[in-house]
Amino acid sequence: MTMLMKATRTCLLAALFLACGSMATAQTPRVADGFSMDWEHLTIEVRELAPHLYFLHGSGGNTVASIGPDGTLLVDTEFAQVAPKLKAALGKLGAGSVKYVISSHYHSDLTGANAAFHEDGATIIGQDNCRLRMTQSRVSALDGTTSPPAPVAGWPTLTYRDRITLYFNGEEIEGVYKQPSHTDTDTIVFFHNANVVHMGDVFVNNLYPLIDIASNGTVYGYLPVIDAVLARIDDNTKVVPGHGPVATKRELKAYRDMIQTVRDRVAAQVATGKSLEEIEASKPTREFDRQYATDRVDGISFTAIVYQSLTGKRMDWNRSANDFKEV
Ligand SMILES: [Zn+2]
Repeated sequence: MTMLMKATRTCLLAALFLACGSMATAQTPRVADGFSMDWEHLTIEVRELAPHLYFLHGSGGNTVASIGPDGTLLVDTEFAQVAPKLKAALGKLGAGSVKYVISSHYHSDLTGANAAFHEDGATIIGQDNCRLRMTQSRVSALDGTTSPPAPVAGWPTLTYRDRITLYFNGEEIEGVYKQPSHTDTDTIVFFHNANVVHMGDVFVNNLYPLIDIASNGTVYGYLPVIDAVLARIDDNTKVVPGHGPVATKRELKAYRDMIQTVRDRVAAQVATGKSLEEIEASKPTREFDRQYATDRVDGISFTAIVYQSLTGKRMDWNRSANDFKEV
């Protein structure tokens, strides 16, 4: 294994679950925006998606806010440290206290500030598994490291299995869980009147996705989940990804096709008994790296993630040797 590959996988494993989307590599062509840890100088980007509906982002995942006569509803709350500035930005938009938070999934870069809003009176809503995952410590499928449960105040207290609908601020807000993809906790949130959909991390725009295998995430789930969304939106829909800029149906379709191409290339080689190193050498992400590779997940890392999802093989991280091997 080359030193570059060792460095790549070290960063890959070291960063996974610090925040979903974290896989730094030595050959990264582009630094991913949106993950600043400079809390003091952090600014909140605000964009109006439709009347009374806003996109906000400081650090971590993307937030959508419905602000109107019924109160305020958020989809996702970003890192815990973002809470004060997120609250201030909402205040400037005329928002009162937040009544509901819908969590798209359990990862801390999208649920970290849940507790801060819950302590102000918000009800946290999530898929059944979202609550379950947040109540548990978890062991990385990659290196066996353990993370503690989320703070109790951030756990969903209103959960659902397949679908939940809220009628709020004149909107029909529909949360849908179909099957595991990024995790087994993923909620897609439609704002039907505004023609906006929040995809959580099932869709990360201009980034390769992470697949959280420890929570039953699987590359096979992405296409059914995304196809179900594509069937319900149109060319005017504003598609909010878990990370990255607001997108269109066309961009979501291109991302879906990228996943299918890489998955099928890796799967074909797995079927003929190729090793991960041999598969990586074939560069199955080659024409996509320019758009999707970043210091969070590059092409080699994404290839390894897909390989792991397809094979179920665990990569054991030998920290002292700074190396990885399949077990
Ligand atoms: Zn995530």
